[in-house]
Amino acid sequence: MSSRDFVYEKFADFYSNPSTVIPSPSLLSQRELAFLLFKERIMLRHKGFANINALKLFLGEAVPSDVYHSCAYYESPEAEMDKKGWLGADLVFDIDADHIPTSCNKIHDEWTCGKCGFIGKGITPEACPVCEGQKFDTKTWPCELCLKSAKEETAKLLDMLSADFGFSHNEVRAFFSGHRGYHVHVENEAVKTLDAMARKEIVDYVSGLGLSILGAEPRGRSAGRRGSRGFSLHDFGWNKRLKLGLQNFLLTATKEDFVNAGLKGNSAAAILRNKEVILNRCVEEGRWGSVKGVGVGTWEKLADFVKDLESAKIDTVVTTDTHRLIRMNGTLHGKTGLKKVEFPAKSLDAFDPFREAVAFKEGEVKVVVSDAPEFRLGGNVFGPYRGQTVEVSTAAAVLLICKGRAEVVS
Ligand SMILES: [Zn+2]
Ligand SMILES: [Zn+2]
Repeated sequence: MSSRDFVYEKFADFYSNPSTVIPSPSLLSQRELAFLLFKERIMLRHKGFANINALKLFLGEAVPSDVYHSCAYYESPEAEMDKKGWLGADLVFDIDADHIPTSCNKIHDEWTCGKCGFIGKGITPEACPVCEGQKFDTKTWPCELCLKSAKEETAKLLDMLSADFGFSHNEVRAFFSGHRGYHVHVENEAVKTLDAMARKEIVDYVSGLGLSILGAEPRGRSAGRRGSRGFSLHDFGWNKRLKLGLQNFLLTATKEDFVNAGLKGNSAAAILRNKEVILNRCVEEGRWGSVKGVGVGTWEKLADFVKDLESAKIDTVVTTDTHRLIRMNGTLHGKTGLKKVEFPAKSLDAFDPFREAVAFKEGEVKVVVSDAPEFRLGGNVFGPYRGQTVEVSTAAAVLLICKGRAEVVS
């Protein structure tokens, strides 16, 4: 049996098994469904289903490698795009390790330019540095550290959504994407009809883009008032985030950390000498001019650095697109064989994707692995492998094959 047939068979088993639970998205009949088909490798779009049972029946027959639904609600989900009758859309966020610069991506991620064949390590660039081509073959891995970084970004986002935007926890739903990140869906009447511009404002807030706290005051107006330039941090929203972020950073940062944050060596030394005073007078009371040797410009630089630490690294285009298709909860990811799964947002910390998202829990399979890093799945640790034949759990075999790292031994 070919490796492709093997994966297809496993996906088919999953979707036709009566014990497989696939939760229905809310208002399923108003959503467009889309499927990536295994064999044809084409995207089947503009499908509508009256209920989850009809959809499940279809999944068992069509056996797609990936299943998506629209974030949008439509009068006629099956109509052409401009005739669908847009009724609104959930507010969705995608946090993916592909967009987070982790220290490990240079080790396990690789891209090959489709035009000139140039190979690079780490995050895939927008354009090839050699030929400026924009099509790439990418080789990534759902690594533990990358998912931990994605989880940290998700935690910041969830905190903003509840503390700053005031969404309640039954309006904010958190999911593991099934690959290298997390999805957050906000389902609420107030966000439903927001247009792309309004969603962009939310994106900017979450990303800390164009934050007006920092040096926003026109210089002309404040130039005459010594010490009035700068910023005072109150206790809500980004003000609070900057304040806490600065406090945390000041408490633990070494001289090297300050220099990495873009500060000059002598400013860093002056800050380290006056830590206590700074935490009280500057951060707490906004008297930024009160430490000798540290100017307001330095504080702005530091606050800007802390802003980057505190912002949530989301994939911005996903949130602004009011017709976006997003992977459906409970279905399999074609690049891993793992499920997209929902978990309570408040349990993010304890959530373990390498346990909860495992779909294939039975059997062992013999595979030839070309190369794979060490990984953990369903309570077992595998690898690292390099050019060897091994017997692994079905879940591990599907993952290795889907990631192009292994073939089944027939
Ligand atoms: Zn190239
Ligand atoms: Zn990684």
